[in-house]
Amino acid sequence: MKILQDLSYSELENLIEQLGEKKFRAQQLNTGLMQGKSISQINVPVTLKAKLLESYADEPVKIIRTLTSSDGTEKYLFSLWDGNVIEGVLMKYEYGYSQCVSTQVGCRMGCKFCASTLGGLVRNLSPGEILSQILTVNAKVKESGGAVKKVVLMGSGEPLDNYDNVIKFLRNLAAPTGINISPRNVSLSTCGIVPKIYSLADEGLDVNLTVSLHQTTDEGRARTMPIAKKYSISEILEACNCYFKKTGRRYIFEYTLIDGENCDREHAEQLIALLKGRCCHVNLIRLNEVKERKLLSATDKQAYRFLGWLEKGGLSATVRRRMGADIGGACGQLRASFLEGEQC
Ligand code: SAH
Repeated sequence: MKILQDLSYSELENLIEQLGEKKFRAQQLNTGLMQGKSISQINVPVTLKAKLLESYADEPVKIIRTLTSSDGTEKYLFSLWDGNVIEGVLMKYEYGYSQCVSTQVGCRMGCKFCASTLGGLVRNLSPGEILSQILTVNAKVKESGGAVKKVVLMGSGEPLDNYDNVIKFLRNLAAPTGINISPRNVSLSTCGIVPKIYSLADEGLDVNLTVSLHQTTDEGRARTMPIAKKYSISEILEACNCYFKKTGRRYIFEYTLIDGENCDREHAEQLIALLKGRCCHVNLIRLNEVKERKLLSATDKQAYRFLGWLEKGGLSATVRRRMGADIGGACGQLRASFLEGEQC
């Protein structure tokens, strides 16, 4: 099936014209879609709905399970129109809600600590399937007077491995006819597909770039992240520099602390040597242990000790708040346990 939410507003107008309908129907449809409604819930003539439903999915993304953490974080399992499942997280901050969305069903990057990649890549999500995760959750949040203000592309999938769809999603998200979330309020996280970082720098979208570094040497990185065999840390740093020059946006490195792997003093020193003087920030993450993987998280004490070393060395760094750890906060964990349950 096709996805109506894939279309930009002008594409929606063209479709309506091709269907022989009046132009203002595009506006009515768009208003409904942006409120998170399915085609059949939108207040337009039934004949138009019937025409659309011949080729377009009525509700491309549907929440089928909600888990609520003791810290208020909500985790959703969404089913797609074709029966695939993806997941997302909603976090509450002082400024409002931040939503973590998926860009692919599964992932083919193979990072050793990540649950999303356990079954490989199933398929890319379309722009409208990425957007619909936000429209659906925003509609829910609006009921209690809130709104999704920030978006992070840190759910399942590698956004730069689904480049064209992610770019179209970002443009549709930011459009005044969309829900008007500017790319400045979106963080795109990548495992480091270097040529695509250069392409992203040329899009004219000031999206926040986040790179999953996790190790300080190419050899160490290649042990947990297969992509490191293709692109070196120095190539990543060069691409990030270019991103900064073109967009003026500071970039962020994610560094997941894994016990016995990357959180000793020597690693802190190597990280300082790599990053000192760059316009970047380091986000230290305590590993969410994934039962299928044998890796252990650093303790809080180790994490704050590592932070202290980085700060003393002149880096800007923070330890990421642990959110939703009790509900399988790491990407892919909920989907993995759902699929496992289904197979029993
Ligand atoms: N593919 C992208 C985005 C998805 S993952 C990327 O690699 O950046 C979002 C972030 O969560 C990445 O930094 C990823 O390395 C990290 N992550 C994945 N599994 C994790 C886990 N079990 N514990 C902590 N962080 C994890």
